[in-house]
Amino acid sequence: MSSPSPVPDPAPGHAPGRPRGRKPGRAPVRAPGRPRGLASDRPPDPAPTEPPPAAIDAYREALGPWFRAHGRDLPWRRDPTPYRVWVSEMMLQQTRVETVIPYFERFVTRFPDVGALAAAPEEEVLESWSGLGYYRRARMLAAGAREVVARHGGRFPDDERAALALPGIGRYAAGAIRSIALGARAPVLDGNVTRVLTRVFGIRGDPSRAPVRGLLWRIAGRVVERGDPGELNQAQMELGAIVCAPRDPDCERCPLAALCVARREGIIEDLPELRPRRRTVEVACTVLLVRHGDAVLLRRRLPGELLPGMWDLPGAFTGTADDRSTGIAAAGALLPWPVEAGRTLGTVKHAITYRRISLEVREASPAEPFRERRAAGGRRGPDGAELTWLPGEEALGKALSAPARKVIRRWGLAPGPEGDSA
Ligand code: SF4
Repeated sequence: MSSPSPVPDPAPGHAPGRPRGRKPGRAPVRAPGRPRGLASDRPPDPAPTEPPPAAIDAYREALGPWFRAHGRDLPWRRDPTPYRVWVSEMMLQQTRVETVIPYFERFVTRFPDVGALAAAPEEEVLESWSGLGYYRRARMLAAGAREVVARHGGRFPDDERAALALPGIGRYAAGAIRSIALGARAPVLDGNVTRVLTRVFGIRGDPSRAPVRGLLWRIAGRVVERGDPGELNQAQMELGAIVCAPRDPDCERCPLAALCVARREGIIEDLPELRPRRRTVEVACTVLLVRHGDAVLLRRRLPGELLPGMWDLPGAFTGTADDRSTGIAAAGALLPWPVEAGRTLGTVKHAITYRRISLEVREASPAEPFRERRAAGGRRGPDGAELTWLPGEEALGKALSAPARKVIRRWGLAPGPEGDSA
């Protein structure tokens, strides 16, 4: 089934969850009567200008002491080797810190260094990543580890161009790894840093567009021209995560409050001027839950499908949530024997980026007795995809798609918290 990948956390990046609602004594976050600004609904802003050197100096000088006093004790901050920082940065993309911590600890225990990761079969890497979602990150990390071993003698390259040539390493990740683990004067610019910089320096315009983005990278570069670049980069990321939140920032606790243009002008929630989010699309799928005793039938996704190499329940997208018949037929066609669809067990909701996927879970059983089914060589489907029977708990230990994980837990095939379902 070309089914969805796991549910992203609602507030991705380094930001931890925080309660909604204004805390007492907070500064107003928006000027009265002023709509939330978007580049498209008002006259163009003047070209953004660079802050003066004294403002950058003050920004830098406020951040270091604050981070030393208030930065969280996170596992990748202890012993920040390039490998550990690299693993953490890949895991933190699209995922909350709280979610990442146990995965990080298990991952670096199983693959303690870049050599161990480079030597590991991809199936094992995906198993260790299973449940975190966005499996492309795991594949890129493993591919990058193999390149570091093959081309750089097992040492993460200090050179920016060599770092950027590694799979899955963009300018942000290269800057984070090189500055934090290697002390390079390399800037970072993620969502948290963008928010802090645009607010403190009052930078208007869409930060995803070249002029503003270029300006932000230049400012981020000037910040790390002096001082400890790794500490300064982490301080900006941390401030965006735990103080300068997208909504209801805690300006009273902010070391940059005296410098902050957005606070002074009452335009905090106007910045950064992000583009409107893409409209949500509803998608319907049907998955077949084929059971024998405590075992459930799984299918391994083929190269070229979404989440290649991952185990999943056999399933397919359907036309609409009201008409699932095409999905049942298409899912059944993935199996080497005819199946009879049984009752509908329920619906599991799953979100990925702009898609909201509704998975109908149908019981199904092969038309022939179990023994004949196995004797018929049902280890592969007609499309060549591997099939296997596994007890629910064992399935959870495999590289299993997030929707399949939810289904297995919800219908009692393995213990654990249920996913969102209806
Ligand atoms: S940078 Fe500090 S003062 Fe400015 S909006 Fe963010 S939390 Fe408030």
